[in-house]
Amino acid sequence: MPVYKAPVDDSLFVLYDVLKMENYGNLAGFADAPRDLVEAVLNEGAKLCEEVLQPLNVVGDTVGCHRNDDGSVTTPPGFKEAYQQYREGGWLALSTDPAYGGQGLPVVLNAVIGEYLSSANLAWAMYPGLTQGAMAALHVHANDEIKRTYLPKMATGEWTGTMNLTEPHCGTDLGLLRTKAVPQADGSYKISGQKIFISAGEHDMSANIVHLVLARIEGAPAGTKGISLFVVPKFLPDAAGNAGSRNPVSCGKIEEKMGIHGNSTCVMNYDGATGWLVGQENKGLAAMFVMMNEARLSVGLQGLSQSEVAYQNAVAYARDRLQGRSLSGPKAPDKPADPIIVHPDVRRTLMTMRAINEAGRALVLWTALAADVHHRSTDAAERQKADDHLGLMTPVVKGVLTDLGFDNAVKAQQMYGGHGYINEWGMGQFVRDARITMIYEGANGIQALDLVGRKLGANGGRAVMAFFGEVGAFCAQHKDDAALGPFVAALSKGLKDLQSATMWFMQNAMAKPDNAGAGSTPYMHLFGLVALGYMWARIAKAANERIAAGSDEERMKAKLATARFFFEQMLPETAAHLARISAGADSMMALPAEMF
Ligand SMILES: Cc1cc2nc3c(=O)[nH]c(=O)nc-3n(C[C@H](O)[C@H](O)[C@H](O)COP(=O)(O)OP(=O)(O)OC[C@H]3O[C@@H](n4cnc5c(N)ncnc54)[C@H](O)[C@@H]3O)c2cc1C
Repeated sequence: MPVYKAPVDDSLFVLYDVLKMENYGNLAGFADAPRDLVEAVLNEGAKLCEEVLQPLNVVGDTVGCHRNDDGSVTTPPGFKEAYQQYREGGWLALSTDPAYGGQGLPVVLNAVIGEYLSSANLAWAMYPGLTQGAMAALHVHANDEIKRTYLPKMATGEWTGTMNLTEPHCGTDLGLLRTKAVPQADGSYKISGQKIFISAGEHDMSANIVHLVLARIEGAPAGTKGISLFVVPKFLPDAAGNAGSRNPVSCGKIEEKMGIHGNSTCVMNYDGATGWLVGQENKGLAAMFVMMNEARLSVGLQGLSQSEVAYQNAVAYARDRLQGRSLSGPKAPDKPADPIIVHPDVRRTLMTMRAINEAGRALVLWTALAADVHHRSTDAAERQKADDHLGLMTPVVKGVLTDLGFDNAVKAQQMYGGHGYINEWGMGQFVRDARITMIYEGANGIQALDLVGRKLGANGGRAVMAFFGEVGAFCAQHKDDAALGPFVAALSKGLKDLQSATMWFMQNAMAKPDNAGAGSTPYMHLFGLVALGYMWARIAKAANERIAAGSDEERMKAKLATARFFFEQMLPETAAHLARISAGADSMMALPAEMF
């Protein structure tokens, strides 16, 4: 049976030693979150995840969700009760606006808890996760009446949320969507059409389900310019604001799928269901993007979460499993063989996972802090800088941490040899659950295109130049530092590769856009390596400071050893990515389609 321990100490190290969270005290909500409260919140969240949610992970996988003949969906045993406990703890509204019943604590804390929830039980965590995303979109774009009706109920978890974009013929290309909205005399709309793959579309955990639905108002332009966003509840709110009569929106089927069996993935049929416009007519994509961006960061976190829990189990197994002898002489001479953790190739695997997890955690929390600054700073320049950072990093966090998260789940499974392939050990579930994170919320190829095609050039390259400037300044400042110098030298080389790749696109992709498409995935990974490298350099700086202060020396030395591994063994891959990018599209576009 797999184990999981929430990495509270590491989260605190990232928040306070690396990101210096105490410096953000001017932002609303941060003064209400002194360190002792943050520690208490994280420890309490860890307890819920370790004791309640993690034991249900295998149950969710083996029992799955069941659609009943009346269209209702039963979630796996224990899911409902766990959700009740989560609601009672007030977790859903941790960082929600207090005006709508939230606690207003920093978004970054919600991200920490989000990692623990998904590590413990990814399929379960999606129910409240989607609710938080739907709340964010309503908060920014809905009118006051809709906000007053829905947000307080969602903040307590009494009602949950979903996002409805995908249709059978329309996935990445949302301009193709056909779901129709017909205006009614009272200002509402009748929504008709079919949505597929809707996560948490129907279930038995909440009293009402609030669907955010993309649809085309009759007569609206074709393509993405004619899409609007609607709020369509399963039960229409009555005069008192409670769940009233049933709206004609129903689950026609749940998908049998590879993983996340505990989450109901539904075909949703809208048969003239009543909905209300959110935001402006024909500006639905922009409104939905609030939810999509939030969800993309959460999915990046899901990738990290599966990598972390898989790593923890791989370490436990590698310490335990006796096979072969160490190349440098027996390490457990009293035993018939050494534990496999003595073998360099096993170490390479474990160090790779560890290096990604620790820097990935810092990258996610650095980005979540930018969300706090963007939403809460009173300084317009600071808000803009934070928004630039969020926009640039969203495809990197989503695409890179989910690709690497899946790779790491496979690596952890590999640690178990044949036993990793046997269900009893639970490693297969991490692989299967991690796989979806690379696909949904915009497949990773689309994240790479978003980075190269939209984010690099936005506002004259302002965001990417700021990133280059920040990393470059860190390198310049620390290049002569005896402890950090070698790390910073490697990071400077990685940064140079990234800048060269960016320049190559500027010179070669305008005239020939296939060059941008061809290099986009290597570029996203090159970017990810430099971003993780920057995190490792900052982690190493913080670790040296702690060692100098005589605090937590053993753990901090482990950080420095992992940083060294990253800079020596992983960051050099930037050169290979640059070579791929600058080779251009020709080799991959050479064959005519019929030759494949
Ligand atoms: C378990 C699960 C849960 C989901 N939950 C939700 C949900 O809650 N709400 C919701 O609305 N949707 C949901 N989805 C749908 C999901 O977001 C889509 O499957 C995903 O966005 C991709 O769309 P598609 O499947 O139609 O693939 P397609 O768009 O057909 O893409 C197929 C492949 O082609 C590539 N591709 C497509 N266009 C381009 C291009 N222009 N350039 C380069 N490559 C391209 C893609 O990267 C992909 O690899 C879910 C899906 C699953 C499986």
